[in-house]
Amino acid sequence: MARIVVLGIFVADATYRAQRLPRMGETVLGDAFSLGPGGKGSNQAVAAARAGGDVAMLTRLGRDPFADMALDVWAQAGVAFAGTRHDIPTGSAFIFVDSASGDNAIIVAPGVAATIEPSDLDGWADEIAKAAVFVTQLEQPQRAAQRGLEIARNAGVRTILNPAPGADLPDAMLALADIVTPNETEAEALTGIAVTGIDSAERAARRLIERGAGAVIVTLGANGALCHADGTTTHIVALSAGPVVETTGAGDAFNGGLATALSEGLPLDRAVRFANATAALSVTQAGAAASMPPRARIDALLA
Ligand code: ATP
Repeated sequence: MARIVVLGIFVADATYRAQRLPRMGETVLGDAFSLGPGGKGSNQAVAAARAGGDVAMLTRLGRDPFADMALDVWAQAGVAFAGTRHDIPTGSAFIFVDSASGDNAIIVAPGVAATIEPSDLDGWADEIAKAAVFVTQLEQPQRAAQRGLEIARNAGVRTILNPAPGADLPDAMLALADIVTPNETEAEALTGIAVTGIDSAERAARRLIERGAGAVIVTLGANGALCHADGTTTHIVALSAGPVVETTGAGDAFNGGLATALSEGLPLDRAVRFANATAALSVTQAGAAASMPPRARIDALLA
């Protein structure tokens, strides 16, 4: 089976819910706490593997209980860890949720993953060159993501750049991406065009192609996705797979599903539909990694 290599980060998400967020210096009693796997790269790797892909994860992990959590989650999903371990703490995110309004405040400390350097990617070059599809995001240092894209491009590996969290990027980096997959906010951060629907998403996609991207898919939440490739724009409407429970990780489900479909040789338009179905199923379940659907459910939704 053709391999997918994901460069990204793992963090343990610690989520606290309380009736209101504490002010600085204040302590409030919470209603609930949960601890689970997070990090866009890790979520995308899990999504791709659950969708049927043969996936390897490239990252730096510590040697601590959060690293054990990552290895457990990947083992359960069938993701091979092909990164390295270090005596630096694994990352974590503290997520404070106001139970009344649903608003949140988050601190992400990427920990060891913040120390990923271009030289790590050089060490992982053989792993990347074996892949059919290489996927990265921007949670590890940008220069490391760029080096990964360069290695993949030089080896003839298909590259997906999920430009999240949002940032402007040099044209040289966009030019290394066969497919760029921003959501609306990220498309705006990249282009300066306020993306609020299909027309503005198309304008942003064209701008990114002018700047060097191979193809652009703008994800539009409940409006599905807009795909601009080979001069043609297609709007793929969202699918409904049941009541929406939680949209956290929808973008990760989309990118993971896209990678799996492309690794199986599907043409881009069909791969986007597969990604759309993967994401539609993920929003019907709570959690991010925990909400990634198995292949049988994706096939059933597309049938
Ligand atoms: P998040 O940050 O919450 O992980 P995102 O902002 O990166 O998500 P979105 O554009 O919101 O990504 O959603 C990604 C994809 O998920 C969409 O393209 C669509 O396929 C699917 N999706 C999102 N919301 C819904 C929904 N309410 N119903 C069906 N599909 C949805």
